[in-house]
Amino acid sequence: MIYHEVLVVGGGLAGLRAAIEAHDAGCEVAVLSRVHPVRSHSVAAQGGVNAALGNHPDASDDNPERHAFDTVKGSDYLADQDAVEILTGEAPGRIYEMEHWGCPFSRTSDGKIAQRPFGGAGYPRCCYAADKTGHALLHTMFEQTLKRGLRIYEEWQVVSLAVADGRCHGVIALDMRTGKLEAVGAGAVVFGTGGAGRIYARSTNNIINTGSGMAIAYMAGVPLKDMEFIQFHPTSLFGNNVLMTEGARGEGGYLRNALGERFMEKYAPKAMELGPRDIVARAIQTEINEGRGFPGGYVQLDLTHLGAEKILERLPAIRDIAINFTGVDPIKEPIPIQPGQHYFMGGIDTDADGVTEVAGFYAAGECSCVSVHGANRLGGNSLLETIVFGRRAGLHASTYVKGEGGARAKAGSEKVLAKVMADTEKRVIWVLEADGPEDPAGLRDELRESMFRNVGLFREEKGMLEGLDKVRELRGRYPRIGIRNRGRRYNLDWARNLELEGMILVAEAIAAGALARKESRGSHFRTDYKERDDQNFLKHTIARLTDDGPRLEYRPVTITRWEPQARTY
Ligand SMILES: Cc1cc2nc3c(=O)[nH]c(=O)nc-3n(C[C@H](O)[C@H](O)[C@H](O)COP(=O)(O)OP(=O)(O)OC[C@H]3O[C@@H](n4cnc5c(N)ncnc54)[C@H](O)[C@@H]3O)c2cc1C
Repeated sequence: MIYHEVLVVGGGLAGLRAAIEAHDAGCEVAVLSRVHPVRSHSVAAQGGVNAALGNHPDASDDNPERHAFDTVKGSDYLADQDAVEILTGEAPGRIYEMEHWGCPFSRTSDGKIAQRPFGGAGYPRCCYAADKTGHALLHTMFEQTLKRGLRIYEEWQVVSLAVADGRCHGVIALDMRTGKLEAVGAGAVVFGTGGAGRIYARSTNNIINTGSGMAIAYMAGVPLKDMEFIQFHPTSLFGNNVLMTEGARGEGGYLRNALGERFMEKYAPKAMELGPRDIVARAIQTEINEGRGFPGGYVQLDLTHLGAEKILERLPAIRDIAINFTGVDPIKEPIPIQPGQHYFMGGIDTDADGVTEVAGFYAAGECSCVSVHGANRLGGNSLLETIVFGRRAGLHASTYVKGEGGARAKAGSEKVLAKVMADTEKRVIWVLEADGPEDPAGLRDELRESMFRNVGLFREEKGMLEGLDKVRELRGRYPRIGIRNRGRRYNLDWARNLELEGMILVAEAIAAGALARKESRGSHFRTDYKERDDQNFLKHTIARLTDDGPRLEYRPVTITRWEPQARTY
């Protein structure tokens, strides 16, 4: 049996940061990822990462406390404020660390890390590397793993988590190259498996962002938290939903409807285009729904007044993408955009050290819910979350391994892994041999369309009930799928259909949580309950998987300094 002291699943920013920390704390560490690390979705991040460095002339009195307040207000008061204070307090240190590791941030004229304004933030505090920030960060992080000689299992897909008696013993993974299932024992397992955007139609996410880590944890008995809060990014390209970064508005871009109006003045008169994402995305969709969009359903992101020089220096990738995918050159013409699914505020229930209910099992990054984003994440806070909480999870995991999770525990793991392997094998082989009449790609499309339509930007009881019915219907049809490719090596048909069941279960947790939350808060906007209801719903939703679907429980929100107020921008 393969065994590692700390096994990190995920080669994105959260996973690699956890691996580096556990290694530096003296543990033997391996990283396992379904794609080469630098193909993780983190690489696609564009706009930037927040930290109150105060480098911008308009932000000389910025500080972590102000960053925390903006984050709490942005979250519509659902974030745990103690965790937010950790996020913003540790932010400058983590950014300087990335700088010292060689991250090529854009610079001010006097050589400091440049910062741009971002939505929902009182100060320009978003550090960036042009509009390729994720690329710069992830490659820098990957270099650090190479420098340390960390073992990386590339193109290995985890299919189950081995849990017994409240303790994690490792994972079962499919080696894509051979098509063999392998048991990987570990003193501690850290998931940095990313988001689940592909459960929705019109997503800005990578096609591997299927929430498989969330599903695997959920199926192993670990609860999911606040799953009903889904972020829709205001500006994705019309037609294919490739992201157009918020940095485009941070640099001064306008949003206009078909009448040429800068309509944000009706929705966020002070912040205008730099309102928080939930408000701007709903404003755009309202303009479209009320007939002030362009034919087909879009509005325009207008950068033409910024001038060629600024666009070429600060937003070169945005320009390339707009030209290549829609034939529009933003220097000359406005970009057609519409809201697209973008981010999961919810995820595997953890504390601020990545600790879950299961001893030795940790999660960090987008797959986790600490919670620092509450009901709506501010742009630039997610990259930050990966480096702050990735590090903390790696550190805690190493402490655990040196104590109760260490060598003595290793002996008991073999038996547990053998049992989980036997169960997993049955399921995995069943998928490889499935020859039923249902087309899994069709099931996936039905799931995504239904989630976008019924549990999307605007929600109401009838639609959500339909969404839930659809999910349950798909759950019933999944056992009748058939797959075409039966080879074992590099069989993506197999790998993707293995995780379809998990996508359906995660979607069910989203729909059930949304239906039960009879209020509007952040990204969860109900046309039948338009107000926030702190009396009844200032609480986190916890979903546990049972044979009858998710069982919902609730947990109070931690409030340290900022009592909930009305949220205006
Ligand atoms: C287009 C785009 C632009 C963005 N821009 C910004 C931005 O400017 N600022 C910001 O703050 N945030 C941004 N975000 C959000 C942010 O990039 C992500 O939330 C963050 O990078 C997630 O990092 P992660 O490490 O948690 O996961 P990811 O980077 O998604 O990595 C997940 C890893 O898990 C692995 N994995 C998953 N499942 C399995 C499995 N079953 N077995 C093995 N391996 C598995 C994958 O191989 C991958 O390596 C953006 C997101 C998108 C989609």
